[in-house]
Amino acid sequence: MAGSGAPQDRLNRVVRVIAQNMVAEVCSIYLARAGGVLELFATEGLKEEAVHLTRMTVGEGLVGLVAERGLPLNLSEAPQHPRFSYRPETGEDIYHSFLGVPILRTGRVVGVLVVQNVTPRRYKPEEVEALQTISMVIAELVASGELVDKQELTEDSGSTGEPITLDGLTLAAGVGAGIAVFHQPQVQITRTVAEDIEEERKRLEDAIAEMRLQLEEMVEHPDLAHGGEHREVLETYRMFAYDRGWQEKMRDAVSSGLTAEAAVDRVQQENRMRMYKIRDPYLRERISDFDDLAIRLIRIIQGDKSKYRADLTEDAVLVARSIGPAELMDYDRQYLKAIVLEEGSTTSHVTIIARAMGIPMLGRVTGLLTHVEAGEPVVVDSASEHVYVRPAEDVLESYKATLKLQEQLLAEYAAERDLPAETRDGEKVTLLMNAGLLVDLPSLDNTGAEGIGLFRTEFQFMVAPALPKVDEQTKVYSAAIEAAGDRPVVFRTLDIGGDKQVPFLPRDEEENPAMGWRAIRIALDRPALLRYQLRALLYASAGRTLNVMFPMIAEVAELRRCKVILNKEIARLAKYDKVPPKEVKVGCMLEVPSLAWQLDLLVQEVDFLSIGTNDLMQFFFACDRSSPRLANRYDLLAPPVLSFLQSIFKACDKAGVPVTLCGEMGGKPIEAMALVALGLRRLSISPTSIGPVKRMIRSVDLGSLRDFVFSNLQSAEHSIRDSLVHYARDHNIKL
Ligand code: PEP
Ligand code: MG
Repeated sequence: MAGSGAPQDRLNRVVRVIAQNMVAEVCSIYLARAGGVLELFATEGLKEEAVHLTRMTVGEGLVGLVAERGLPLNLSEAPQHPRFSYRPETGEDIYHSFLGVPILRTGRVVGVLVVQNVTPRRYKPEEVEALQTISMVIAELVASGELVDKQELTEDSGSTGEPITLDGLTLAAGVGAGIAVFHQPQVQITRTVAEDIEEERKRLEDAIAEMRLQLEEMVEHPDLAHGGEHREVLETYRMFAYDRGWQEKMRDAVSSGLTAEAAVDRVQQENRMRMYKIRDPYLRERISDFDDLAIRLIRIIQGDKSKYRADLTEDAVLVARSIGPAELMDYDRQYLKAIVLEEGSTTSHVTIIARAMGIPMLGRVTGLLTHVEAGEPVVVDSASEHVYVRPAEDVLESYKATLKLQEQLLAEYAAERDLPAETRDGEKVTLLMNAGLLVDLPSLDNTGAEGIGLFRTEFQFMVAPALPKVDEQTKVYSAAIEAAGDRPVVFRTLDIGGDKQVPFLPRDEEENPAMGWRAIRIALDRPALLRYQLRALLYASAGRTLNVMFPMIAEVAELRRCKVILNKEIARLAKYDKVPPKEVKVGCMLEVPSLAWQLDLLVQEVDFLSIGTNDLMQFFFACDRSSPRLANRYDLLAPPVLSFLQSIFKACDKAGVPVTLCGEMGGKPIEAMALVALGLRRLSISPTSIGPVKRMIRSVDLGSLRDFVFSNLQSAEHSIRDSLVHYARDHNIKL
């Protein structure tokens, strides 16, 4: 109905047609501008001169009230309303009745559509309905960005929100800021106005029936038969799917002339606006349940072709109830500055991926979805575990400064990329990086890492919907080897189970999954899985060196079993005329303490060793690595830890077996400083840690540091961290 022509002409036509059809003396359109201002854009009935002149803030006058509430306002005696404010330039004092409806787009008020009559009357529900339908069409016009700059639309236009701070749980460290982008399957509605109402009715009814069917199937799924939380959630969903009020509203919206998908969307927008006002947290949470259902319904109507994610075009903070790892990886990492979730846990897949991608992430942020709107500025700070929504100017300035500092530092690290990681007294340390996804590979060149010391092959399995086939695995491994060129890549065979679940492997409930059926234990029980993976690794390394290591080895006998399988696969290559690797180097992760008591034997079995302190230390202290409550309980700079690690370094040195440390510990400058002092010369760390650790190494005089650390090994203190920090300060070591 908006028709063709310049957008302003179309608006003018729209107000004329509405005024005629509703027999109203006045019809006006106000659109939201930057800074929470509403501007009169078109009118039939008010004075022409007022167009683009009359402006009010959200909350001011009746129009402002509609924008503030996001709900229709239907008054027979408008001038008597306490919020009525008279604008002489419009000449509107003679009109008694007033009907205003918000123009909503993706949950935001982008304008207000108003009709007025001289005679006092209350508008009929059908008239309210009709005006709401038209407002959707106007919303589409506004979204084109021709009337109001798109930039303005995403600014603080319709929001009434004050700055707020929400608490969360740090899942991936860092600071990030950007505009809020909702991760929800973004449904795009391209057709709003129905050409054939009967046809649209049928599309809606068919889709509702299909949605119910899908939910029935989900609830009846055999995996859920024994009940539990999942089932309850689905039961609630099912209840909503049969909600009569919801369906009636959608049917009414179709009757008023909308397409089926536009009707679902409009009703959902209203639902959302209503529910935002509700204080009860349970009811507010239901918004997202309805959102999910509405999105599902629209997807069914559109034949599942709608887009799942927003294209990021500027710095963004992704906001979601939860998100899958594959979905996360769909976003453009360049613009993705942080992630905030209502759910999420330290062990969820997406957490591991976010950490691997170096994106700060906070989870368990209660009320997130109801407090943030798309397009609003958000700052995420993992150190304070705060999410600042619509941050006040001072907060924003302070974080801008922190970010700037962070960027400056990054630029400095980049400039130091090609400098050697060598102490002031000439001791060389090899800095490698940890990786697991193809997106990590460019970091090799960006950071100047000397290779990949730990390639976590399970990441590919975690983000895949089905077990990756040998050729799919080969592709990923080849890409890593290719990207590394002459630099080594150490592949670790599948470390699944525990905190890294894969979708296609049945999962037993375990009391202690970290100590349960995981990693090499699964591989040895399901040798086909390991065999295929080794095959893919061998294929990818044709004519080159393959470095492969096995995770969670608890005893030498276990490693020997792995080697038998590997050797069979190597032998198989000849049988099938495949080019073998130039050489195969076999290593082992040391992350189970028992293995440290077989070091003499172990060093004879391996070409290299890698210490996984993330796991090793949780077993060393009997302290769950993913328990937030225990996160700071024990310190890795405790004397027993350092003595233990030192004994491993010594044994490897004696045997001439290269030893690398690939846990998170090595990526922290102060920890790395202690490790280097104890004799470690190889670290495999996250790409973002290479710069800071190298800088620390280049500022150290190892001779005197070594004496200092050794003299502290017998200390009975909880940790030698403070002494080390003081030492670093006194000796100009850059931490
Ligand atoms: C470790 O345990 O230290 C390690 C590097 O492995 P992951 O963190 O993948 O368990
Ligand atoms: Mg581990």
